[in-house]
Amino acid sequence: MPVAEFQKVTLQECMHQQGCPLCQAVWKIDAARFGWYVNDGVLDEETQRDVVRAIGFCAPHALYLSLIEGSDFTWSHLGSCLVYIHVIEYALLPDLERFLQGSGQWLLQPLRRQIFSPLRHLFHHDLCLLCFDHRQHETTYGEQFAQAFSTHEAFRQAYLQADSLCLPHFQQVRSTLAESRWVQMLEGAELHALKQYEQIPSPLSQPDLKRYLFLLYGGETFLWSDLIPRAALRSSEVNPLACLACKEREHEATQMMTALLDHLEETLHWGGNGEQGQLSLCSWHAWWLFKQRTLHSAIISRLEPFLRGTGKEWLSHPGAIERQRQPCQICEWVSEQETRQVERLQHHLHTPEQRVHLCLPHARAALRQSHDEDTRQAVALALLGSVSQVGRRLKGYVHHCTERYQSQMRPEEQVAWFDAIRWFAGSDSAQFLLTSSAARETSGE
Ligand SMILES: [Zn+2]
Ligand SMILES: [Zn+2]
Ligand SMILES: [Zn+2]
Ligand SMILES: [Zn+2]
Repeated sequence: MPVAEFQKVTLQECMHQQGCPLCQAVWKIDAARFGWYVNDGVLDEETQRDVVRAIGFCAPHALYLSLIEGSDFTWSHLGSCLVYIHVIEYALLPDLERFLQGSGQWLLQPLRRQIFSPLRHLFHHDLCLLCFDHRQHETTYGEQFAQAFSTHEAFRQAYLQADSLCLPHFQQVRSTLAESRWVQMLEGAELHALKQYEQIPSPLSQPDLKRYLFLLYGGETFLWSDLIPRAALRSSEVNPLACLACKEREHEATQMMTALLDHLEETLHWGGNGEQGQLSLCSWHAWWLFKQRTLHSAIISRLEPFLRGTGKEWLSHPGAIERQRQPCQICEWVSEQETRQVERLQHHLHTPEQRVHLCLPHARAALRQSHDEDTRQAVALALLGSVSQVGRRLKGYVHHCTERYQSQMRPEEQVAWFDAIRWFAGSDSAQFLLTSSAARETSGE
């Protein structure tokens, strides 16, 4: 089958499932591609060079890889552990050591980069290979969708019967459609989908809320989150947090959430005339919010008016182009919070006897906040301390795992793997791999 035909068929098949067919199709191809990075890709030198250069993957993709890897027949995280070992041995350790010995350039360039690129709402690290692949898949399938929609009656009919595109994908496809009659048809379907939510009374049920977030912000993260229960660890089994800033954050989790909601309420009410701004989120943070609801029950009741307001705004201006450029408000807020947090921890950082540890995201925040020589030294020490431990434990696992030919991970190996994710992606992302010992989250959400 020619590639274009295959893509069209895939899209049409995805119309039988719930949620945006383009999200579904991209998800399928992402999953097939990403699996490669933790299998054959580990042995591919060029790929490994690129992964090392990027210092691993962005936080959502680090999490995603760890989820697709534990497939049903091999319960092993050997692939991602090897990737992390490469990053630690070929980039982090040598660079940190060179820096601390006073020779060489200060760390790798990526550590100093602004992580929150305004170019792309979804995943934040502009070097992450998986982000790159994902964008390519999205472009290809988006174009294929527009092409099929303009030329095939059967495709259009199937789409009109199916769930609508999520709003980000609707915008993408809409902008590539040439003929105005197809633009109108696509818009009609989208408005119909949005209107359905207007008719549902508050508060939205969990399934409705999930579908609504999916429609407004895209669903890739929602799609892969179904895999989480398979990879989850019990919170009672893992080690206490090593990163000083993550520890602080854990204590303040509830206040942080309240502060976030206050912040959103403040920024979204403008002019004092009752007009409301729109809530713009990346797909990852839409999912993140949805997941927080079990911890913070107030969140949805405070959030729902903004979601509804955002949907309403879309209904009145379905074609507004400027929305594409709006960055995620939670990404921005999180970045500010991280910076403030490490600011408060400065004095600990500058007391070498304390042997402070930092995770990678908080180390980046510390460097964003100030990059004088003292801070760099302190951050380098804090990174070195924590990452060398992570590396040692991963190597212990890989050594045994090779001998046992990918049989089941032992509990302490799984904890080592979890600590690696937590170090690279931060505890806020890694929390999704945890479940309380009492109850695993129900899969029906
Ligand atoms: Zn979509
Ligand atoms: Zn990524
Ligand atoms: Zn941290
Ligand atoms: Zn975001």
